[in-house]
Amino acid sequence: MTPDQQGTERATILDLQNVTCHYQANQPAVQNISITAQEGEIICLLGPSGCGKTTTLRAIAGFEKVTTGDVFLNGQLVSSANTHIPTERRRVGMVFQDYALFPHLRVEENVSFGLQALSRTSRHERTATMLELVGLTGFEQRYPHELSGGQQQRVALARALAPNPVILLMDEPFSNLDPDMTIKMRNELYRLLRQTNTTAVLVTHDHQEAFAMADRVAVLQDGILVQYDTPETIYHRPTCQFVAEFVGKADFIPGVIQHGTIETEIGAFPNQGRYQGNSKVMVMVRPDDIKMSQSTSNHAKIISRQFRGSQHLYAIELPTGHIVHSVEPSDHSYEVNTHVSLEIIATHTVLFEHPTESTS
Ligand code: ADP
Ligand code: MG
Repeated sequence: MTPDQQGTERATILDLQNVTCHYQANQPAVQNISITAQEGEIICLLGPSGCGKTTTLRAIAGFEKVTTGDVFLNGQLVSSANTHIPTERRRVGMVFQDYALFPHLRVEENVSFGLQALSRTSRHERTATMLELVGLTGFEQRYPHELSGGQQQRVALARALAPNPVILLMDEPFSNLDPDMTIKMRNELYRLLRQTNTTAVLVTHDHQEAFAMADRVAVLQDGILVQYDTPETIYHRPTCQFVAEFVGKADFIPGVIQHGTIETEIGAFPNQGRYQGNSKVMVMVRPDDIKMSQSTSNHAKIISRQFRGSQHLYAIELPTGHIVHSVEPSDHSYEVNTHVSLEIIATHTVLFEHPTESTS
């Protein structure tokens, strides 16, 4: 049991300890992955294509064996070097990218598929409850091809949740929906998971989706877990440049630590993290960390402007040639070539090694 932010004790549902999986000898697809999820938590596995998200999910589901490490589900060891509990005995619910509905079965039969152990009446009742939960009452007799993409996904979700799984596993469940539908289904899924207190692992390559859905995000790079934390910490305090750039726009400008602050071309940043490394560093600057105003005396210059609806994104060239970005409300706009002065409004200073200092 681990206390959550409200201080209530919640059971650990998922516990991956140093999990490594191979498809080929000498080339791990994922390596030393350690992730836990408490009851009711939504976890996102985030990273670019090929980083090992699906493999990690399949290892949890029992579709892949682990080479080393342990997977515990609800306190039970289900995978290790010499343990492999089959998928059907893990009580996991799965929603696949293509939903994988049975095309020859009606909606009702798809949803009741995993309920064979129940009596006929209980099965019928449970199916009706699940269809009501996903807003598909009245669609019982339809076949999958008679449904829209969003409706098919709701059926897949109802089918996965019907047997009351220990955990729900979803691999890029929105990738076959158009953008408007994705946002709608994302909100619906979030509400449903919270309403049913379902513990879930969602795979996505989209950081906005991970931020919108997850309590905690696991960022993977080349089969390695590089950061596992809340969306806010991942965004504001990334532990490496890869994470910083994967979850949003980030610029890096050189700085020098002097008397407890970091001096840069655009001003001084507080050294809150008490960075102990070399005195030359790279400072991460996000477009929302910089506020600009028109100025004739400053040499910083706007070199491009991109309209983004409520905001403009500006690229600003500094006298040294370094480029930083700034987002500003679009009710007022600056022309390209305008000289501006920059004010730093960052609440967190994130520092990385300076490339010329890192090989000493
Ligand atoms: P993601 O889901 O993040 O795109 P995957 O888990 O599918 O990544 O893949 C991780 C790595 O494992 C990649 O290098 C991929 O090429 C490799 N891989 C995935 N599936 C197989 C497979 N069935 N056989 C061999 N290699 C695979
Ligand atoms: Mg994948």
